[in-house]
Amino acid sequence: MLDDQTCVVTGASRGIGKGIAEEFGKHGADVVVNYRSSESEAYAVVDAIEASGGSAITCQGNVADYDDVDAMCEQVHDTFGSVDVLVNNAGITIDKKFVNMTREDWKRVMEINLGGVFNCTHCLFDDLLKAENGRLINISSVVGQQGNYGQANYATTKSGLFGFTRTLALEMARSSSTANCVAPGFVRTDMLDKVPEHVQERIIERIPLNRFAEVADVTGIVRFLASPESRYMTGQILAVNGGMEW
Ligand code: NAP
Repeated sequence: MLDDQTCVVTGASRGIGKGIAEEFGKHGADVVVNYRSSESEAYAVVDAIEASGGSAITCQGNVADYDDVDAMCEQVHDTFGSVDVLVNNAGITIDKKFVNMTREDWKRVMEINLGGVFNCTHCLFDDLLKAENGRLINISSVVGQQGNYGQANYATTKSGLFGFTRTLALEMARSSSTANCVAPGFVRTDMLDKVPEHVQERIIERIPLNRFAEVADVTGIVRFLASPESRYMTGQILAVNGGMEW
């Protein structure tokens, strides 16, 4: 379904990004596995994609650094040509009650979770506009919809993606390219592992489906958004959160 599509997934060495990259690879895409520091994990993702018959490259780069992203795009163009699908997935948390949050905690999360989205989208925007099935997919969070104790910086970035996605959807529409957002609930990855056990127990009580998401609960939805089948959906937020209200 993604044959001949070049798909860039940021933060694809681990967690949700790894799952998305492998899902894209299984469905015929040429996949760019971006990572910042987990080199061996990123190469393992490429190996998994190649083992499933797909093609992929790793691309090291800090999404918060415009020059890194620019160099990454050059590498992608040299290898695969123009990009069809960009998944802005890379993200971090620095959780603290607001009273203890420093400007540095605020800035670091902004620079990666929102600055990274600007940098990658800006560098690949022309590609997405000229692609036959240009797709911008931003990974937000239920926390952007509901807020969350101790996550003022993170929640702000994830809400920010809603405005960004809706605006880009309007600016991309003339080229028949789309922009959508996926807002997962709590997903079993390293990011969730950092949440203390007793807090995890309280979160599960708020999830009607009574469990955390697995990465595979999210990846099929992202693949659908990347595929030509989603061509008439744009500016949407897809909540994938086990029924959590917001
Ligand atoms: P994760 O397991 O912590 O993985 C984060 C990934 O992002 C890693 O591959 C990491 O690469 C990469 N990354 C971090 N900073 C980067 C940077 N500056 N430049 C390039 N890559 C960078 O996180 P996850 O749980 O999979 O989360 C992925 C996305 O889903 C995030 O945007 C997160 O906000 C969102 N999300 C997660 C959950 C959840 O419960 N897990 C729920 C909703 C939304 P390196 O290891 O190489 O640094």
